[in-house]
Amino acid sequence: KLVKAILVSLKAEKNPETGRMSMVPVEGSEKEVPADLVLIAAGFLGAQSYVADAFGVELNARTNVATEAGKYATNVEKVFTAGDMHRGQSLVVWAIHEGRDVAKEVDKYLMGYTNLA
Ligand SMILES: Cc1cc2nc3c(=O)[nH]c(=O)nc-3n(C[C@H](O)[C@H](O)[C@H](O)COP(=O)(O)OP(=O)(O)OC[C@H]3O[C@@H](n4cnc5c(N)ncnc54)[C@H](O)[C@@H]3O)c2cc1C
Repeated sequence: KLVKAILVSLKAEKNPETGRMSMVPVEGSEKEVPADLVLIAAGFLGAQSYVADAFGVELNARTNVATEAGKYATNVEKVFTAGDMHRGQSLVVWAIHEGRDVAKEVDKYLMGYTNLA
């Protein structure tokens, strides 16, 4: 049974190695509040590492699956990526665009040419 939530304040901090902004806990900011319902409303925070690890694909500094610019092939033969996993948090129109583009790239990879428009 849920009876309380332990809250921690976060602050935005730049990772000096990757240049990526991330939210880090503020030390000593923990506080408890009584609660019987908790809703998680977190945004997209990059590719889930267990998925990337399962395929053995490399991630870029923004924790998206890495490809050459404008391409969809990953570092692993026959594994392609598209959509949020590839671009990071984005829009449905981009997911559709990338879905069509990656289909062309896969078709070309398999057939040596593509007739997909
Ligand atoms: C709260 C919220 C609001 C948004 N509002 C808008 C909006 O108003 N307009 C807009 O254009 N965009 C919006 N977006 C962004 C948009 O939803 C995404 O950019 C888009 O859905 C990305 O499409 P995708 O196919 O790359 O990934 P997804 O749509 O996330 O599809 C990934 C699929 O993979 C499946 N999956 C995950 N892990 C596994 C696994 N291990 N095995 C098998 N399947 C798996 C998931 O179940 C999911 O079906 C919003 C996003 C969020 C989170």
